[in-house]
Amino acid sequence: MNLILLGPPGAGKGTQAKRIEESRGLVQLSTGDMLRAAVAAGTEIGKRAKEVMERGELVSDDIVIGIISERIDQPDCARGFILDGFPRTLAQAAALDDLLAAKGRTLDVVIEMKVDDEALIERITGRFTCAECGEGYHDTFKRPQVEGKCDKCGSTEFSRRADDNAETVRARLMAYYRETAPLIGYYFCKGTLRSIDGMADIDDVTRQIEEVLTDIARAA
Ligand code: AMP
Repeated sequence: MNLILLGPPGAGKGTQAKRIEESRGLVQLSTGDMLRAAVAAGTEIGKRAKEVMERGELVSDDIVIGIISERIDQPDCARGFILDGFPRTLAQAAALDDLLAAKGRTLDVVIEMKVDDEALIERITGRFTCAECGEGYHDTFKRPQVEGKCDKCGSTEFSRRADDNAETVRARLMAYYRETAPLIGYYFCKGTLRSIDGMADIDDVTRQIEEVLTDIARAA
């Protein structure tokens, strides 16, 4: 099964993608994670993307389309993938249609995670992750059970994304509403869109996504 999680920054796409990855044996493909890895490694793509990402703007379509096209061909994606943070523009969505068609693959469903705008800024600016295992935390909503120690792996190292600050978040939301929100209409018209309540608690959101996936699998 191949799906897209669609929603603004802070909607919970990454958190939910990790959960579905485990429950369904799919691979999470996060262009944000891939670009951050390229920046950290200092690759040519990383150098081109770094400042754009720091400003909260979108990296050029050709870069992310190239990254996804290559990644989908790898053997671990054969069982299916969850796109998280891609596509983000209509041009990327059209390119995805073309490249899936060329590879003889299909997109099963696009799950829109609906969230209140006001909640997003607080969600994003408070988040941090374990530097060791990547477990996600939040200053207000999810602190480690033992202060300063990861619940999952026990590490005491945590990190915050360079672009999770109040100024950049507004630019990222602006980019979302200008460039990405039109994808909701695009996938609605193609008949692949399903919407869920992303404001529910984390487990409930997972349950809603699982319901959609079960439904889609049954219909296939
Ligand atoms: P994310 O981790 O999905 O919030 O992405 C972090 C940043 O990476 C974004 O603010 C963009 O600068 C860049 N980025 C990630 N995915 C894309 C994409 N599909 N198209 C353009 N830029 C992207």
